[in-house]
Order: sequence, then C-alpha cells, then structure tokens
Amino acid sequence: MNDSELFSRALGLQEPWQVVDVRFDAEQRRLDLRIDFPKGSRFACPQCGREGCPVHDTELKTWRHLNFFEHQAYLTARVPRVLCPEDEVKQVEVPWARERSGFTLLFEALVMALVKEMPVAAVAALIGETDMRIWRVVHHYVDEAVEAQELSGLERAGIDETSAKRGQDYVSVFADLDERRAVYVTEGRDQRTVQEFSCFLECHGGEVAKVTEVCQDMSEAYLAGSLKYLPQAEITFDRYHIRKHLSEAIDEIRRAEAKQHRQLLKGTRYLWLKRPANLTARQQDLLDELLHQPLDTVRAYEFSLRFDDFYGIEDPGAAEEYLRRWIAEVQGSGLGPLIRFTRMLEDHWLGVMRWHHSRVSNGLLEGLNSLIQAAKRRARGYRTNRNYIAMIYLVAGKLNAGPAVV
Ligand SMILES: [Zn+2]
Repeated sequence: MNDSELFSRALGLQEPWQVVDVRFDAEQRRLDLRIDFPKGSRFACPQCGREGCPVHDTELKTWRHLNFFEHQAYLTARVPRVLCPEDEVKQVEVPWARERSGFTLLFEALVMALVKEMPVAAVAALIGETDMRIWRVVHHYVDEAVEAQELSGLERAGIDETSAKRGQDYVSVFADLDERRAVYVTEGRDQRTVQEFSCFLECHGGEVAKVTEVCQDMSEAYLAGSLKYLPQAEITFDRYHIRKHLSEAIDEIRRAEAKQHRQLLKGTRYLWLKRPANLTARQQDLLDELLHQPLDTVRAYEFSLRFDDFYGIEDPGAAEEYLRRWIAEVQGSGLGPLIRFTRMLEDHWLGVMRWHHSRVSNGLLEGLNSLIQAAKRRARGYRTNRNYIAMIYLVAGKLNAGPAVV
C-alpha cells in the first residue's frame, strides 16, 4: 500500500474519490492531501438524487482537517458541478465536509467537543483558527440541534431571565422541568417571549394545551404572557425568587440599621442571608452573639427563618394558615421592607400557594444559572446576544450539537 492509498483508507474515502497526492512540509508543519476523481467519473445530482450525471466543471476547494500529529492537515479537491437534465448545473456534496464550510466534518466534530469544555477564544487559540470561524461552526450545529428538538413530552415549564450584559440586555430561558434542560432561549424578558416559546413548542411536536404547570418569577410580563399564551397552565411563583425578595428586604433593614449600629453590624451582611447550616463555625458563633442584641435586623432574620418553614409543611391547608399567621405578625412588626414583602405575597397569593400542589421550582434553573455563568465566561469578549444564546443552549440544553460522524 502506498501512502496515497493509506490516506484514502484513513479518510474512509469511497469511489470515485481517492487521495492522489500527499505533500508534507516539515518547515511549515503542514500536511496537504489532494483528493480527486478519475476522468469520466459520474456523480449523483445533489438536488434530485439522479445518479450518473456527467461533470460540467469543477471548483478547487480546501478544507482544514484534524491535525496529523502536531501538523496541520488540509484536504484539497476539485469539487465537480454536475449537469442534471432536471436541475441544470449543481455542485455535488463531498462526503467529508458540509456545504460552505472550510473544515471537514471530523474537524468540526473536534471543535464542537472542545467548545463544550472551554471558552471559544481558548479553542480558537488552541487550534490556530479565528474566533469568527469557530463561532460560525458553533452556530451552525447549535441551530440545527435546536431545530431538531422534539417537545411532545413537555408538560411543566420553567421560565427565567438572565442578563446578557451587566444590567442590560436580558434573555429569557424556557426549560422543560422534567427533562431538566433549557429548550428555548430568546432575547428580551417581556410577554412576547412567552408567545414565541408557545409557537416554538407547537412547531416542535409539543402542544400548548398540554403545558399544565409553569414556574416563574413574579414579573408582570411573564405572568401576562403565561396567562395569555399558556392558558392551561397553573402558575407557581418560584420559591427561590420569592426568597430572593425576602433576602433583599432583610438586607434593606440591615443597611438602614447599620447607620446607627455600625460596630455591631459591620461586615455581617452574609450572616443574615445564608442558611445557618451554610455558615462556618466562626460565623455561627458571631451570629449567635448578635441574635441576643435588640436589633431590627435580628427580628427580620428570625421572621425569615420562620418563612422558610412554610415550604416544609406537608399539608397545603396548614401551610396556607401558617403563612397567613406569619404575614399578620410581620404586618404588626413595624419592619417596613418586610411588610412590603408580605404585600407582594398577598398580591401573588395563588401562585405562592400553588407550590404546595405543584412542587415545581426553578431550582433547576438556578442550577442552570451556574452553567449559564459558565456560558457567559465562554462567550467572553464576543458576547453578542446570539453567541450568548448559543452557549446557553450548548451548556444547558443537553443538545446533541455536532456533525454525525462515524
Ligand atoms: Zn437533479
């Protein structure tokens, strides 16, 4: 076997394609394989599939392939255009690359494997290509995998927002809470995003009428969208978002009080916001001491722990009664930010209580959130919304994005 035959076999080339020339340039650290077909070869029409069409003309193309050890490897071939009686002149598809790509399928498979593990800029540096070319490959395969999704089983949806850039440009993430993955990601955080999601669902085998539970934050926009476009769904307000509002209320009380009790409250912010079990021994000792002080922050903190117990009560009726009593006590406490929190609960009562029936939360989405933060880091420097969205799909969508290569 000569080296042309060897490379033909290694590439898995089929008739009439064969490696006809192998050039290795040690100085350039580059291997070039020229692939060609014998004179008189005939090809199938890429449009209608008709076999045996004669070659009309050819166009010379080059693709980057997997490295040959530490050397960059390139394939070059003259790609024929065939003359089909039905479709006129069409360029044939080569088996080693997709149309309009400068990479072979195997090389693209490598790119997709790498971008799941490291930032795009690092992938680009590692393989010696520009970020732009890498992003183009990523978008092609992510778009393809997103479109190929089959959503007929989607019954419980989670909606969450995430900021693309600091404090501006939001994207909305729609998740299948049972499959625990993001299925639809889009720009904005208004009710139109829910409409888009409902259309996407219907276009991918799902049914709006089958979505019976939605978990979301208390934003008016998502609420209006869910009521309008997912009309069969019961809405649960996500317990983690609710808890975030409570934490903000406690922090507001602490900040106001710290102006008078600077010595006591300095540097204690996280003591009041973390769960007691997540504190270090030293932090717990410090907290225990503070709890003896006659502070509003202490009262607010104790209220917050009792609020958490609402989620631990098994019986929905007992839980509702418990929360009503808690609210009545808070409203008599004089703690302004906490009282405002109880008003928010009252305004969203059904969706707060719904948790005791649905037991759905976006805890999954919070888990996704750490993945999304990773996605942000991976898209660093190229954080257009489109890149950001592609990365969310890639890390949180469990999509099988990449070329099908054997
Ligand atoms: Zn044809």
